[in-house]
Amino acid sequence: MSSDDELIALDRAHVWRPYTSSDDHQNRPLLVVDRAEGPWLITGDGRRVLDASGSWWCNNLGHGHPRLREAIARQSEQMMHSTLAAATHEPASRLAAELVAIAPEGLTRVFYSDNGSTAVEVALKIAFQYWQQNGRPERRRFLALPGGYHGDTLGAMSAGDVDEFTRIFRPLLFDVRRPPDAVNHQWEPVFERLFALLREGVDEIAAVIVEPMVQGAAGMRTYPAGLLAALREETQRADTLLIADEVFTGLGRTGPLWGCDHAGITPDLLCTAKGLSGGALPFAATLATDRVYDGFRGDKSRALMHGHTFCGNPLGAAVAREVLAIYRDEDILESAHPKAAKLAARIQSMTEVPGVRTPRSLGMCAAFEVGAPGYMGTVGWQISDAALELGAHLRPLGNTIYVVPPLNIEDADLDRLLDIVRESTERVLVSAQ
Ligand SMILES: *Cc1c(COP(=O)(O)O)cnc(C)c1O
Repeated sequence: MSSDDELIALDRAHVWRPYTSSDDHQNRPLLVVDRAEGPWLITGDGRRVLDASGSWWCNNLGHGHPRLREAIARQSEQMMHSTLAAATHEPASRLAAELVAIAPEGLTRVFYSDNGSTAVEVALKIAFQYWQQNGRPERRRFLALPGGYHGDTLGAMSAGDVDEFTRIFRPLLFDVRRPPDAVNHQWEPVFERLFALLREGVDEIAAVIVEPMVQGAAGMRTYPAGLLAALREETQRADTLLIADEVFTGLGRTGPLWGCDHAGITPDLLCTAKGLSGGALPFAATLATDRVYDGFRGDKSRALMHGHTFCGNPLGAAVAREVLAIYRDEDILESAHPKAAKLAARIQSMTEVPGVRTPRSLGMCAAFEVGAPGYMGTVGWQISDAALELGAHLRPLGNTIYVVPPLNIEDADLDRLLDIVRESTERVLVSAQ
């Protein structure tokens, strides 16, 4: 048995795979990744495969950035873990200041956790507890957009709306109001309805939660910045909180550092994870304004009742600090502009392939549709199989094909990746006719 076969056999015998049925786990091809560098996944026998999904959207600086490797090594020699319970350490305190310096103006406080779902869970709990102990206890309800995705824990699922992911758990989830979905990608009526729900329920609404600019898991759905700005105004008028879930959009994925920057707004709470640690370690943060933080002053009973063993973990914080330093030193956002323009043009040209619909992109995030709409579609997976043969790991969202490469991918690698996307799509759609 080659060692790959052995690893696959062990995996099929014992691993439980995310979002994969047990039958698919047994039957679908599995890529055994031995090493990774830049945008490349490398197998044991030296085969190089381009990673189109950026390791599930977190690998903003490519795999194995030497400075990230060094930062982890350095920090591991000094201290791998200490809690943030009545103690602090350099990585956590300096990172908090550095995050505040680059966050939308007015976000001044950083609560650390481990992943995107917990960053959202923390934001929801902060918003809820804030009103409970600051004179508006009837503000217990959340509003959200149709098609939102905020993670897989129960609170995050309650805020989310990707039916396939949450339907089965509905009886366990709390009630979150949202307007009906956009028809023909028309978002104005959706936001108008959201504002109406906000005005009608103003005394009951603890917060509105959205993914700024792009709804990732719903299928890379983009909406205009003007609507995000209008939402900020409406939530301010209602004097309620706005939570920006930047777990995917943050760290320059959509062009500027934050999705909120497209609209020039500051939310009351901002969730960041994924790219925050360059995809190297599980690490997340929820940022808040002074106003929100000040709602937790007073005696012990007014403390935020939330904490994780690994809050502010020194390894994660050290690697996140290095990520921010690399963004500065290597001009990551600026240098991604021409790459994003190339990505946009090449994705638009995918309409030359019969059967490709609604190409769209924002920054280093691009997508198009094939086959019947929906997450349960199978055409996307056929394209994914074809792409793997051609040398790219595409993980579709059903029949949404997307490309989320590292922001610093070399032009030649980006071209190669887009060639494979084109060729695998043609193979499946054109040969299917
Ligand atoms: C991925 C994602 C999450 C959840 O993050 P995990 O680290 O997978 O728990 C939350 N919100 C958005 C917008 C995401 O894309």
